[in-house]
Amino acid sequence: MQPRGWQQAWRASVRDPRELLRLLGLDAEAAAVPEAAISAFALRVPRGFVARMRPGDPHDPLLRQVLPLADELRTVPGFGLDAVGDGAAKVARGVIHKYAGRALLVATGSCAINCRYCFRRHFPYAEETAAAGGWAAAVAAIAADPGITEVILSGGDPLSLATGKLAELTGLLREVPHVRRLRIHSRLPVVLPERVDDELLAWLRDLPWPVAVVVHANHAHEFDAPVDAAMAALRDAGASVLNQAVLLAGVNDSVDALADLCERGFEAGVLPYYLHQLDRVAGTAHFEVGDDRARAMHAALVARLPGYLVPRLVREIAGDASKRPL
Ligand SMILES: *Cc1c(COP(=O)(O)O)cnc(C)c1O
Ligand code: SF4
Repeated sequence: MQPRGWQQAWRASVRDPRELLRLLGLDAEAAAVPEAAISAFALRVPRGFVARMRPGDPHDPLLRQVLPLADELRTVPGFGLDAVGDGAAKVARGVIHKYAGRALLVATGSCAINCRYCFRRHFPYAEETAAAGGWAAAVAAIAADPGITEVILSGGDPLSLATGKLAELTGLLREVPHVRRLRIHSRLPVVLPERVDDELLAWLRDLPWPVAVVVHANHAHEFDAPVDAAMAALRDAGASVLNQAVLLAGVNDSVDALADLCERGFEAGVLPYYLHQLDRVAGTAHFEVGDDRARAMHAALVARLPGYLVPRLVREIAGDASKRPL
């Protein structure tokens, strides 16, 4: 079978940090990229995302999200391997049930982009994905618990699976009467908007439940015309589209950057959902913003923006019954 357009675009991703820096006219920085950081968690970034970076700027907020740095190799107390207790909340292979009514499926381990701040650097995805066993164990766990009314596809990135694979899952879920909502957490509509193709949209349109798509953009520059078109298409297919961001030092840790993100997102038809404090995962400490600064920036957003454009500032605490508002 011919690979789909989006799969071709994905395969063409930049994987060599030196090539990435060369594309941005930053050859001098290339020498400083640490091999050990790359081999711990590879660089991967779609070319369309690279095109949204500012050439010649080593501090570009999109570049910072993907470029391996020596800072990642530091051991920092409090930054561990399972920062959010996912290991403990597992109810079946690839199914995490932490919060009332909602089961989260770790659908797959793969993503279109490798974000340096991500917990995925460490989670043992190879054995833990819900898709691996043809979804059977995941659907059985959901079917066995009538309290589960919402199924959340997460990962990794669930939209890195072929649409046919997603359709297998939703075909099985249709038989589970207590499922009332489907949610999809994905960074692909932002980093690889080609993914929002006719086949995906036809699948979405055909689903029997209300669908929320939670995308993930951290900076206003992540939106461009193809991303806007992807968001419009998702909404046109009936999905509610929300954005979650992570508060990241050197990426979006200013009131201006956060306000721009929320306003630019709304121009694409996306409402802000969560602004997450970083999960304290080994190798990510240099992205952390202290809680006091985070609260102050959030208060400034509340003062500046309409209420519907202010995301909830939250932190995930292992064992809590929900994300914890700060
Ligand atoms: C974040 C998360 C959810 C979703 O929480 P919401 O507050 O509904 O967005 C569900 N399950 C798990 C395991 C999560 O980590
Ligand atoms: S799970 Fe999300 S944040 Fe993590 S690497 Fe994948 S796309 Fe990036």
